[in-house]
Amino acid sequence: MDMSHSTTWEKAGAPGILTIDLSALSRNYRRVSTTVAPARAAAVVKADAYGLGAQTVAPALYAEGCRDFFVAQYAEAVTLRPLLPRDAALYVLNGLQPGTEGDCAARDIIPVLNSLEQVVRWRTTAELLGRPLKALLQFDTGMSRLGMSTEEAEALAADPTLLSGIEILYVMSHLACADEAEDPHNAAQAEMMRRFSSSFPGIPVCFGNSAGAFLGESFRGALVRPGIALYGARPTDILERPMEPVVKIEARVIQTRTVPSGTAIGYSATHVTDSERQLATVALGYADGLPRTLSNRGALYFKGHRLPIVGRVSMDSTIIDISDLEPGTLTLGSLVEFIGEHQTLEDVAETAGTISWEILTGIGHRYFRQYR
Ligand SMILES: *Cc1c(COP(=O)(O)O)cnc(C)c1O
Repeated sequence: MDMSHSTTWEKAGAPGILTIDLSALSRNYRRVSTTVAPARAAAVVKADAYGLGAQTVAPALYAEGCRDFFVAQYAEAVTLRPLLPRDAALYVLNGLQPGTEGDCAARDIIPVLNSLEQVVRWRTTAELLGRPLKALLQFDTGMSRLGMSTEEAEALAADPTLLSGIEILYVMSHLACADEAEDPHNAAQAEMMRRFSSSFPGIPVCFGNSAGAFLGESFRGALVRPGIALYGARPTDILERPMEPVVKIEARVIQTRTVPSGTAIGYSATHVTDSERQLATVALGYADGLPRTLSNRGALYFKGHRLPIVGRVSMDSTIIDISDLEPGTLTLGSLVEFIGEHQTLEDVAETAGTISWEILTGIGHRYFRQYR
């Protein structure tokens, strides 16, 4: 084998290539921004920017004009804070964790206060430091996950001293059913948000996620929080033109074989050939984010050909049937597509019986990663 032509990723010994298109990411951000104007678009970069690398993705979005970034956990904010300029705001959706208050203030990380108890701890921190501290207030408008109840909101509104020393940048809430445009939950949540925000006059609202941003003005407020739309998946069916794909995943063929009729394939022999078949084993398994539910159901692609997955998806490899290809077109080292031009993120999610969010955040760490 002539090693002089081997590429960087082959030299790195990677089983495949994960390509992240930063210009498509930027165009997706621009599209959401244009759609929601005069509201502004933040970027949700939790879970390592949905698996795509928050340390690269967040600065790229900053360069595109984004100044508001949401993570889920405090530790994620700590990692990201030094990589973003001071004028970028970094918010923690999961709230103010006990023990992090002083550090959170010192690092200029802004908590989303989800309960009265968190408000009290933030107020105490502001008192101790002798300076005002920024925060978002989240209200539960009908998801029962995070945020203050109506009673807590009333208590806050009735006693403004509870918020002394706290500079509230936005009041926010999260939509439970935004991907279903017709769901009556949406209007109910918007109405409840209006009531909450009327108790805090003059404070802007931060409301919709990706799907909510496209639902219309009453689901936006002054700031929307898109995640998935930036990363290239269609957040809602009302979107006619899809977002631009950001992710491409290819993996290499590590062995090929011809097997006779009656051959058992993979763990538990869940597939048995009914004729002579050509097979290829690809260096891609569930540890790399290829869902095991695609066993005997999904496919990988090669030059536009659909190559069905036969047998169970293993941890590190998967077997595909390549009998439909002209002999010799797919060989050892060939790259097959998992996510890309012929099979979108949504296609994979649908066949696997899950959502594109889970596919993205499940992408493994063994790929050779390249940012374009
Ligand atoms: C994850 C999350 C978002 C982003 O949701 P997408 O559907 O990916 O746009 C927005 N807001 C909150 C509170 C979230 O948890």
